[in-house]
Amino acid sequence: MRTLSADVVVIGGGATGAGVVRDVAMRGYKAVLVDRVDLGQGTTGRYHGLLHSGGRYVVSDPHSASECAQENAILTRIQADAVEETGGYFVATEVDDPAWGDDFARGAAATKVPAEEISVSELLTLEPRLNRKISRAFRVLDGSVDGWQLVWGAANSAKHYGAQILTYHRVTKINRDGDRVAAVICRDDKTGEDVTINCNFVINCAAAWGGQIAAMAGCHDVQVVPGAGIMIAMNHRLTNSVINRLTYPADGDILVPVHTVCVIGTTDQKADDPDKLVISREEVQQMMDCGELLVPGFRDARAIHAWAGARPLVKDSRVGSEDTRHMSRGMSIIDHDSRDGLKGLLTIAGGKLTTYRLMAEHVVDQMCEQLGDVRPCTTANEAVPGSESGKTYQVTHRLHAREEDRLDDQILCECELMSRRQWVNASTPSHRPASTTCAANCDSAWALVRAVFARCGPPGSRWRRSTSTSSGRPA
Ligand SMILES: Cc1cc2nc3c(=O)[nH]c(=O)nc-3n(C[C@H](O)[C@H](O)[C@H](O)COP(=O)(O)OP(=O)(O)OC[C@H]3O[C@@H](n4cnc5c(N)ncnc54)[C@H](O)[C@@H]3O)c2cc1C
Repeated sequence: MRTLSADVVVIGGGATGAGVVRDVAMRGYKAVLVDRVDLGQGTTGRYHGLLHSGGRYVVSDPHSASECAQENAILTRIQADAVEETGGYFVATEVDDPAWGDDFARGAAATKVPAEEISVSELLTLEPRLNRKISRAFRVLDGSVDGWQLVWGAANSAKHYGAQILTYHRVTKINRDGDRVAAVICRDDKTGEDVTINCNFVINCAAAWGGQIAAMAGCHDVQVVPGAGIMIAMNHRLTNSVINRLTYPADGDILVPVHTVCVIGTTDQKADDPDKLVISREEVQQMMDCGELLVPGFRDARAIHAWAGARPLVKDSRVGSEDTRHMSRGMSIIDHDSRDGLKGLLTIAGGKLTTYRLMAEHVVDQMCEQLGDVRPCTTANEAVPGSESGKTYQVTHRLHAREEDRLDDQILCECELMSRRQWVNASTPSHRPASTTCAANCDSAWALVRAVFARCGPPGSRWRRSTSTSSGRPA
């Protein structure tokens, strides 16, 4: 049994937890983040890749729209290396009502989401593969964001401020001392050892698993509903900008260029268990149909992978428990002192990857208030390690790198552009420094190997098949 101590334990190493541990550490608290697996292996590694401009929510959820617009600008500045400024368009296809564009324009003005109507001929010059029957188009500031790069950027910044990041540490129990949180008990899944982390405060960022964590502290019935969605990656970029349908948010209405591929998505179905997400043939067909509507001939491109993620949606009394599409995408913070009489525990869930920094700011503000501390948030003011230059990612950087050093090497994964030599280097222990001295890049490389495996399966298994699920089941 190992024993550690900290001011604050953050549970969950997705975008939210990484943002929270960075914020806590930057405010001067001794912080530890724990995740049962590696960082970004929950929903954060299984999402669509869109850095929202806010356009998607200008009519349906104006508050979220404004938050997205604000955070889009901040993330592009402080996490430049994770962001590609692709730009985006909202387009009315032949089945969409072009008059909805007026609601969109009014919503964008009211929420201060930058949006400009352009002619269809200009759109088709910029994105020649799009459907010629598009009747209306608006340009927005959508982008594409690499979830793993984003999480590791925040985590490395937190480490720089003294935080400890413990991956493969599964929380099994939260100890109380009367009406206060006293310690978090984890199991180190690599050694089998139990670890006790004595602490004053716990922030539960376990998202779709947040209800399970709250129950470990005796706080029952925290209802985070997993809203499952599927996405499909096509083997190259059919468009270079994000393409959204000009409609009320619906299934399969966004195409996002992510690195060298493009991703169509998504669906929204209530799931019973976030660890058992099923990808049905019907959903795959539905996504292909939606892609075809935006880009004629979509089905002729090669679908290389399908995966699913679970939105952590906090149950909303205004909508039915099965109707995840209409549950708010906004963030929710649960104060377990007022709810359950337990001091020192906050649960945060909901929101979007795009708003993860703001979510962290809100929950850490609330923690400071409860502890009686005045320590302002500074996360928007400082770039994370690797983003200091402010240069955003461009897909051509990776292609250039491939031309420089990988032409004589075999590519194992088209979506990640990972070569056999990179894979061997990252997966051979003798080529990696000991994890205690591991540099940021080495951690990232190893995370990339795992991420590729999680998404694509081991070499030789998946990438010869046209479409598969992350569990290896045929889609
Ligand atoms: C289909 C889909 C598409 C989406 N597309 C977009 C998009 O394009 N743009 C956007 O901005 N947002 C998007 N989102 C939303 C976004 O992905 C999520 O809001 C965000 O990733 C949630 O991050 P998180 O850190 O809260 O959760 P997660 O990333 O799920 O992190 C929770 C973590 O808790 C850990 N955990 C669970 N149990 C334990 C335990 N017992 N002990 C320790 N750790 C534990 C898990 O391993 C996990 O890493 C999408 C969501 C879905 C489902």
